[in-house]
Amino acid sequence: MSAGAERRDRPEDAVLASVREVIASVRARGDEAVLEYTERWDRVRLEPKSLRVPVELLREPAEVTPVATAFRRAAARIERFHREVRPRTTFFEDEEGAVLGMRWTPLESVGLYVPGGKASYPSTLAMTAIPARIAGVRRIVVVSPPGPHGEVSPEVIVAARILGIDEIYRVGGAQAIAALAIGTETIPRVDKIFGPGNAFVAEAKKQLFGEVGIDLVAGPSELVVWADESAEPEWVAADLMAQAEHDVDTRVTLLASSETILAAVRRALDREIERQPRAETIRESLERNGSFIVVASDEEAAARIDAIAPEHLSIQVRDPWAVLPLIRNAGAIFLGKESPVAIGDYYAGPNHVLPTGRTARFASCLSVEDFMKRSNVCALPDGFAARLGQDVETLAEAERLPAHGYSVRVRREAKGKARPRAGIRAVTPYVLVEEDAEVKLNQNESPLDVPLEIKDEVARRLRDLEWNRYAQRIPASLADAIAADARLDSGSVVLGTGSNLVLQWIFEAFGGPGRSALFAAPSFSLYPLWADITETRTREVPLGEGFEYRPDDMIRAIEAEAPSLVFLCLPNNPTGTELDTESVRRIVRSAARSGGVVVIDEAYREFSEPRFDRTSLAREHDNVILVRTCSKAFAAAGMRLGYLLAPLEIATELRKVVPPVHVSLFHAVLGQVIFERKDLFEARVRELLESRDELMTTLAEIPGVKVVPTHANFFLFEVAEPGKVFARLAERGVLVRRPGSHSALARHLRVNVGTREENERFVAALREALA
Ligand code: PMP
Repeated sequence: MSAGAERRDRPEDAVLASVREVIASVRARGDEAVLEYTERWDRVRLEPKSLRVPVELLREPAEVTPVATAFRRAAARIERFHREVRPRTTFFEDEEGAVLGMRWTPLESVGLYVPGGKASYPSTLAMTAIPARIAGVRRIVVVSPPGPHGEVSPEVIVAARILGIDEIYRVGGAQAIAALAIGTETIPRVDKIFGPGNAFVAEAKKQLFGEVGIDLVAGPSELVVWADESAEPEWVAADLMAQAEHDVDTRVTLLASSETILAAVRRALDREIERQPRAETIRESLERNGSFIVVASDEEAAARIDAIAPEHLSIQVRDPWAVLPLIRNAGAIFLGKESPVAIGDYYAGPNHVLPTGRTARFASCLSVEDFMKRSNVCALPDGFAARLGQDVETLAEAERLPAHGYSVRVRREAKGKARPRAGIRAVTPYVLVEEDAEVKLNQNESPLDVPLEIKDEVARRLRDLEWNRYAQRIPASLADAIAADARLDSGSVVLGTGSNLVLQWIFEAFGGPGRSALFAAPSFSLYPLWADITETRTREVPLGEGFEYRPDDMIRAIEAEAPSLVFLCLPNNPTGTELDTESVRRIVRSAARSGGVVVIDEAYREFSEPRFDRTSLAREHDNVILVRTCSKAFAAAGMRLGYLLAPLEIATELRKVVPPVHVSLFHAVLGQVIFERKDLFEARVRELLESRDELMTTLAEIPGVKVVPTHANFFLFEVAEPGKVFARLAERGVLVRRPGSHSALARHLRVNVGTREENERFVAALREALA
């Protein structure tokens, strides 16, 4: 007979072919195939519905029997052990500042095979399910072949109840492994399969490995006992019998340090075997696969053990810890005569699923890490590529992978350039259109300059001051005067060169990575820009159809988002919208609940009605900031003076962001003079409002123009073709504003009130533009 023909006839080949067929059928026909094979080999006809053991049955409390109680105690010890030895994610930082490590994460789902019939071992369920739980596996699926009445063995059910397992399918053999690896209509596909089984189960695991993760392929059980004169021959014999009773294929070996020991153990065996209920299996196993060897030295014993690489090794010599370092290959090692393997099988705590058939040379005992996987984690610091990238480029070049080298080089070379944070690189800069026009109505400025007498007064006071000294006193006294006027504590006012900068400080102090800012849309276009710069997340709440604030929407968004900052622009730029103080208060309270600060940008407050005065909010709430400016009603846009009013605690925090001596003598003196002459500016505001109203009335009467009501010195108006109208106005020397890209403003232009003469020129130009 040729070698080929011989091979074809081996019984293993029959198993191989049969398993291949089972896998193909389960792949093609799912449940139907699983049920057919179950009927053929387990002799029970099941329905897809009855494949799964009812959850209610498994959720019943386990009955209190001596076995259940012992099992519970064993499970607790096994759990304790596996918890102690579970792998932990570790990181370290090297000299270069690289943070490196390995992160352990659980498998999502596992399948546990629990054999039926004579080998129904609830202890095996404990040894697989407990480490799976500790690893954090979310779905544990158990399969076990049905007995003659279609039921899973009652011991397994009790074990499942105690272990809290509620997903068991009555299916065994290769079809169970195929179902778990491939998935059927009823049985879920899992990521890895564990548990011992017969030759068909083992073969199915081999064939499906790769498609699904597989634990060890278990072979016959093995034990080596190494004994010297200090051992009890009776106990050694008992341990050998305990192993041999598993199966006739079990391999037991005795390594005795002398003939005397060996003979004593043999005598004990001869006496005891007959009394064992499984005497026949034990005798046959020992006859076929037992070895009794006298070793001349510890080194010889260790060498023999390493060659065998046994599943279990029991060292019953005088000082077992002393010989432990000699041994390298063994699945589980039991030290001393008080540590019988049987206690390890059930109860000691370490896992009893172990490598067999000499695989302990490279394989390990089952443990928590088998239910997990590890990922390398590598976080390199800034500049790593610049310092060490050259090595990588050299290696990549040697391996002829030039794109590898390039990916390092771009980083290395980038280091040569100065680059800001990513948040800043992402920003499109705000460009203030400084277009020249005869009639400039596009920047919400005051059309009237500061009167000469005031300019002279500022100059006169400045001349008398010492410019050579850092001066804090005058800016501080201006801030205190503003605070006193608002009936706030001294220190509640922070001055800045323009309220733009004040708003930016607020973002710097209260925004930032991991925080969010909420504002209405459309609103002042700089809010999202500052959010980007400071890497603050944004949340926009749309205004209503008539551009009205919707406080309930804002409160809902605040509750959902818990923003660190809420911006209310009142009156709103560009819509001119106001909001009643009671609604503002509700927003302030809602933000306070999640530690949010409400910033009220009041750049145009002087144009709004006195009923919208919100100064008291900064006194009554500890999370309100009012931001104001001298740029609009006080006609000082080019001179840059703005400020905020806030409860002392907030103002104190914000001041930390402000550079020392930020506000110059010039700004401070300007502020003092302006506030002394407040009445003059207030009278001007009244006049501007009058002419604004006239302008709006005139505009509203022009066909094709719709005017949006306002509380500010500017307003929106709607025309059919805003782009064309804007251009035609510009041709006629009149500059208005296209108010951003917001979709609600697609047909709108914004204009601020000018002098009476400017307003007239604007109206005339608009009539022509629309003609
Ligand atoms: N807030 C709003 C709503 C504005 O419209 C402006 C200027 N257009 C500012 C703040 C900033 O003004 P300033 O920096 O001149 O004080």
